[in-house]
Amino acid sequence: MKDLLLENMTWPEIRQAMDDGYDTVVIFAASIEQHGPALPEVTDTALGYLEAEDLAGRLGNALAAPVIRPGLSKHHMGFPGSITLRPEVFKGIVEDYISAYIHHGFKRIVLASSHGGNFKTLEEIAEEQSALHPEVCIVTGLPLEELDAALIKMDQFEGLPPGTCGGHACDWETSIMMLIDEDYVRKDKLQKGYVGTLNGELLDRFFNQGVGSVSPIGVMGDPTGANPERGRRYFNYYQRLQEKCILKKFEEWDMKHAHEKE
Ligand SMILES: [Zn+2]
Repeated sequence: MKDLLLENMTWPEIRQAMDDGYDTVVIFAASIEQHGPALPEVTDTALGYLEAEDLAGRLGNALAAPVIRPGLSKHHMGFPGSITLRPEVFKGIVEDYISAYIHHGFKRIVLASSHGGNFKTLEEIAEEQSALHPEVCIVTGLPLEELDAALIKMDQFEGLPPGTCGGHACDWETSIMMLIDEDYVRKDKLQKGYVGTLNGELLDRFFNQGVGSVSPIGVMGDPTGANPERGRRYFNYYQRLQEKCILKKFEEWDMKHAHEKE
């Protein structure tokens, strides 16, 4: 198959893929939001396409849905260009994606996000939709805490000061954007943002008063040393974690349902 993106396929190709056993669809939610002075608003969407298609390939028998954007980005609204959906609108879109793919006969649905602000709502949706469609395996990807833990590990692997991969327009995101297309990155505009741990009062401020109250340029981390080779390592590491997490959830679902059939 040419690629695993549903939006690039024709309907006969999709039907053929399903007949050949492609029963899983990977749905990524992203964002349209500020990513500091050096990265474009499309950053999470571009990452979402890369992650979704790669993940579909890793899972096998899986196709990737058009990446959903905008997402839930209230804390980025202090910067021009960011869009945030009302939570009920976002939820409605994700639910309609799920309904469509179930209608077409997919048996497993993965809900994942390339934007931190969507994670919690996706988990709620997965839980509700699983109850509504017990015959379909609906799971989410890595939880946000594990993404945060992975970012700490990425700093350690690369021997970087803690917080360099701070999670937003940081060394991690910038390096992967360079891997996708160096033209995305305004290299002369790369600037260090907030570098440090984000917990307690600061985390509260981040979400309630907005990213700008913690980093006036909208960057969490230090992207000034970003490069595509690092981007490749970050990407492979994260995708392996994601793959492992989802395969485990598939297995748990299969076991649970095998019991129910007994
Ligand atoms: Zn991002």
